[in-house]
Amino acid sequence: MTKANIPAVGIDLGTTYSVVARLDERGQPVTLVNAEGDRLTPSVVLLDGDDVVVGKEAMKAMSSEADRVAECAKRDMGHRAYHRVIGGKQYPPEVIQAWILNKLRSDAVQQIGPFEQAVITVPAYFDEVRRKATQDAGYLAGCEVLDIINEPTAAAVAFGFQHGFLNAAGSADRPRHVLVYDLGGGTFDVTVMEIRGSEFLALATDGDVALGGYDWDQRLLNMAADAFQREHSLDLRTNAVAVGKLWRECEDAKRTLSARPKAPIVAEYQGKVVRLEISREQFEETTQDLLDRTRFTCVQALRAASLEWSDLDHVLLVGGSTRMPMVRAMLQKISGKVPDASMAADEAVAHGAALQAGLILAKSDGRPATFSIRNVNSHSLGVVGTDPQTKRRRNGIVIPRNTPLPVSAKRQFKTAKHDQRSILVQIVEGESPSADDCTSIGRCTVADLPSELPAKSPIDVIFNYQADGRLKVRVQVPQMDRLLETEIVRENGLSKEHLDAWRRHISGQKATEYR
Ligand code: ADP
Ligand code: MG
Repeated sequence: MTKANIPAVGIDLGTTYSVVARLDERGQPVTLVNAEGDRLTPSVVLLDGDDVVVGKEAMKAMSSEADRVAECAKRDMGHRAYHRVIGGKQYPPEVIQAWILNKLRSDAVQQIGPFEQAVITVPAYFDEVRRKATQDAGYLAGCEVLDIINEPTAAAVAFGFQHGFLNAAGSADRPRHVLVYDLGGGTFDVTVMEIRGSEFLALATDGDVALGGYDWDQRLLNMAADAFQREHSLDLRTNAVAVGKLWRECEDAKRTLSARPKAPIVAEYQGKVVRLEISREQFEETTQDLLDRTRFTCVQALRAASLEWSDLDHVLLVGGSTRMPMVRAMLQKISGKVPDASMAADEAVAHGAALQAGLILAKSDGRPATFSIRNVNSHSLGVVGTDPQTKRRRNGIVIPRNTPLPVSAKRQFKTAKHDQRSILVQIVEGESPSADDCTSIGRCTVADLPSELPAKSPIDVIFNYQADGRLKVRVQVPQMDRLLETEIVRENGLSKEHLDAWRRHISGQKATEYR
């Protein structure tokens, strides 16, 4: 197969739904349907004995076999294990995500033939640790991850493509400022972008990795479970299967409320039943604080981009939860613009990823680039130091958030004593001055320093944030003129050996726990 025949595939690995898109012969992004004939695949995994079932069938099992079903694993990326025990076992979230990727890829292969390479998207607000975990999930699923790109950026690229900004005529047009509001199932992301013809520049990004449609569902679920408890003095929330069933009811009711003023919810447990009717007003009232959190985050992102609402040309709606009328009304009120819903809310991200895959493949083929992307980092990067007075662990910020990527920054450390042979550098991400409130990326040991270095010799540590938001660390000993690559030892995440063992295991599609 010649390079030009390799399909350009983009995967939106969503918290609740995933989508795969490719570029067709004319370079247009198209969504691929899965084996069930759907464009969206629920990001849900059922472990049925040795079988791994992903998607719609796994989602159905949530109301009967909830204890063997893993959903929203994306929210746990960056943690050691998925937050619940599944079928009596604990799994790393990367592994659950890899099972989903495996299904997405094998369904796509049925239509477009074998491929390994793909661009995978992540929320802009994902930190370095979660990005690494996403790349690892790709590796586990036997994919070659061409790039990790931010979901709002991908959506903006798809928007630019759709509106003709990417052709010669469009690129001569004036710069546009776009706010991408992406409210999905489990994450909220906002990015302020400047589109200068075919250049997509992220100016600022903000978000919440634990806020999405799921939280709206949860509010309805609590309303219904409270009503059930008042009536029958029983808390159905203690039973995973009852919760799984009610959750499906509530999610359904939420969708109905986007189209109609009222929706029924039926709560059932131990043969007892409660029927409720929820109005849109009630729903909006009980979730108002969630919406307010997204509004506040938008205001912060705009401020970080040094823009006013009136500077915006478009407010782009991305993610299934932007179908809720309350979201549109809030954005219209605050921005004074009708939010743009011209793109398929759930497919735009995958389309942008496919465009990026096409760009990377074209470049590797020596063909010219049709557009370019510049991102910013979503979290400040720092090193841990100790406050000499309080002895507290402090976060010394090396690269502040919203810095255009790629970027390098140097930090000088000094050896404490004569003939010191190693230095330990602890790396964190976050805005808090206290290192303990930040996410630990890991530590780097600068070993093999030359012998006989006098005390207080300078050692330069160079942090390089790549365009995909991944970090590389190098060390320079000025006296030696030597540049060393150093490995970051990660506290969370899988080691290379574990990754390889899981990769072999996942390719066999067996759920049996690997030890
Ligand atoms: P993610 O990328 O996080 O997986 P999606 O963008 O696919 O999420 O959006 C999924 C979320 O959108 C779910 O919480 C789902 O309930 C919600 N959703 C989809 N359609 C509607 C609708 N018509 N009204 C309200 N919420 C919806
Ligand atoms: Mg999404």
